[in-house]
Parts: sequence; structure tokens; C-alpha cells
Amino acid sequence: MPIRHAATTGALATEAVPMSDEPEVLQIVKRIGAFKTRDHFVGVSGLHFDSYMVKDILFARPTEASRVGELLALRNLDLDIEVVAGPATGGILLAQWTAFHLSRLKGQEVYAVFTEKASDKGQILGRGYGDIVAGRKMLVLEDSVRTGGTVKKVLAAITACGGEVTAVSAMFNVSPGKVTDATFGVPFRPLAEISVISYHVDDCPMCKQGIPVNVLFAHGKAFVESRSK
Ligand SMILES: [Zn+2]
Repeated sequence: MPIRHAATTGALATEAVPMSDEPEVLQIVKRIGAFKTRDHFVGVSGLHFDSYMVKDILFARPTEASRVGELLALRNLDLDIEVVAGPATGGILLAQWTAFHLSRLKGQEVYAVFTEKASDKGQILGRGYGDIVAGRKMLVLEDSVRTGGTVKKVLAAITACGGEVTAVSAMFNVSPGKVTDATFGVPFRPLAEISVISYHVDDCPMCKQGIPVNVLFAHGKAFVESRSK
């Protein structure tokens, strides 16, 4: 089925308009070639996948990135949100665009901040952002949620600074039924749910078939380098 083009003219639409049964966010990443299938990827967790959402392709395209932020803003427009936060690096751009559209749609300033990896592998709110977060109602964003591990670290960093998390939202929940509201203790609102099967390296069918690991995207380069040592 051909994928119809959504509004990408730069005009600011004010409603989510599904162009087909497929969620618009999925149509967007497919159209720009950011959702790659039938390949061989290694994720940050070390697990192997045949499909991968390459967020960097999306974030190089401001029109599409803006529309995704707008979809996230519309999805969460019913909530009282004063600050949007996401983990670096993908969360920086998602939080910025979503806060921009929330500000526009609500007619009030909504701030955008981001967390960063800490030396203990948690997430921290640096750059004076703790002061922005303190006492404010927060929306936490992530691009793709697989286990929710990173989001939980963001939640911990925000709570430590006195922020009040209202909801977690994401472009994709790639573990439908596994990652839920209960995972985060607040409502979890992904724009789309997609099932991506992950494999441990020892029983990865792509490895068994000798399909080369994609070293351009995800964490395949580090995986291949570690194997050649
Ligand atoms: Zn593999």
C-alpha cells in the first residue's frame, strides 16, 4: 500500500490527521527512510534486531521532527504540563519540538530541558535545569521505549530535583504489553506500538545466516570492533 504524504509543507496543523490506518508517526519515519527493516542491527543493550528506528535521520529533518513534536503535544494536550524533558541526545530535540508546540497550542510558555548520562550510568539534570524543574509538572519523552530503563533514570533525576512527572510519552513503544503505565507509575502514552523482535547474539538468526551487522546505524560498529579484537 502506498504511503500517503502527511502535512509537511511547514504549515502548522492543529489536529492529528491519520492518513491511513497506520499511525502518522510510523508513516513519517517510513517515508523518510528512518525506519529500517530486513537488516541486522545491534542495540545499545547488545541485543540484535532486524528492524531499527534511526532517530538521527528524523532529527536531520526539521519539518518532520517538528510534526512528530506536534503529534506528541497533541497526544498530551489534555495534561497540565509546564516542562518537557527527555534524555540526550534524541530527547533533546523531541523535548524542544514538543514544548514548542505545547506552548503554541496552550498559549503559555512550556519549557524544554534534557538529562544526560551520569558517570554512574544514571541520568542527571545539569546546566541549571534542576531549578526549572523544581515544583513543576513534567512530561517525559523518549523516542523508542524498549525496556523503559532510560526513562526510569530520567524520572529519578527529575524527582531528585523536585519535579512532578505527569506522564511519559514516546514516539514508539517497541515492547507492546510489556512496557505499560505500571512500568513508570504514571500514564504511558506512546504514539504507536510496533513489535520489534530482539535476539541475544547467540541465537540471532541474522548472525547465523552471516548477514553483516549494520555498522552505520545503532551500535553495530562497536560490536564489530569488539569482535575483531
Ligand atoms: Zn546478529
